[in-house]
Order: sequence, then C-alpha cells, then structure tokens
Amino acid sequence: MPPNRRRLPFDLALLGFTSYIGFMSHPDLRENFPNSLWAAMGRGALLRCPRCRKGRLFQGYLKPVQNCQNCHKKWDTVRADLAPAWASMTLSAHVIVVVYHFFFFDTSIANWIATSSLIGIAALISLLSLPSFKGLFMALVWWNRMEAQQG
Ligand SMILES: [Zn+2]
Repeated sequence: MPPNRRRLPFDLALLGFTSYIGFMSHPDLRENFPNSLWAAMGRGALLRCPRCRKGRLFQGYLKPVQNCQNCHKKWDTVRADLAPAWASMTLSAHVIVVVYHFFFFDTSIANWIATSSLIGIAALISLLSLPSFKGLFMALVWWNRMEAQQG
C-alpha cells in the first residue's frame, strides 16, 4: 500500500476538524447560521445572505454579489436558473385570473383598457416578486449543496 493511501483517513479527519474549528470560531457563522431550510429561504426572499443574514445577496436587480460582504460566502456560483421566473409567473397568473373575472362580468369597461390593465398588473407583480423568488431559490440551492462547479 502506498504511503499516501495510509494517510488518507488521517488527512480527512484533520480536514474535518480544522473546518469545524474554522466554522465555530467565526462568530457570525456560529450565531447566525440558519436553523432550517425555511429560515434560509426566508433570508433569501428578503434579499439577505442566507448564511449570515447580514450581507446583501444582490448587487443589482438580479445579479448576485460575488462574495458576501459579511461572511465572504461565494454567491456567484449559486444559480437558481429558471425557478424564479416560473414562480413569479405562477404568482402573477393567479392574481390576474382573479382580476380578469371582474373585467369579464363588467361589460362597460373597454377591451383595450381591460387588456392593458391585466398586462400592467402581471408585469408589475413579476418585476416586484422576481428578486425575492431568486433569493429564495438561491437559498434552496445552497442549502442542498447544488452549487455550480467552477471552471
Ligand atoms: Zn453572508
């Protein structure tokens, strides 16, 4: 057996021990680490770092920060892909279906007003909810360790 194979269990134990000490010695991680997936998703929905709750999650409207300003967690490799778009479209569709029924039974409203109102409401709800849904799904991806590999 080569010497490197024999050292592997020892190296893994040392790696686990040092990362545990590093984790516990960082006050923000020890005190502010989320207790559950729901807590992490709530922090993401409030556009805060799901790991420490203090740093911002986005540097623009939907662009994630490269690293959290507080805990230095790398966020640009955590991708939510199409899940936020799906969620915001589902939400806005359910709202405009309700509004549509008010327009449908009130025939005194012109069609162009009804249609443009529905489009405006759908666009507004989608634009307002999209960052929160992205933060929520980024927290879900991070919690389940499904981050993209670098390179
Ligand atoms: Zn953080």
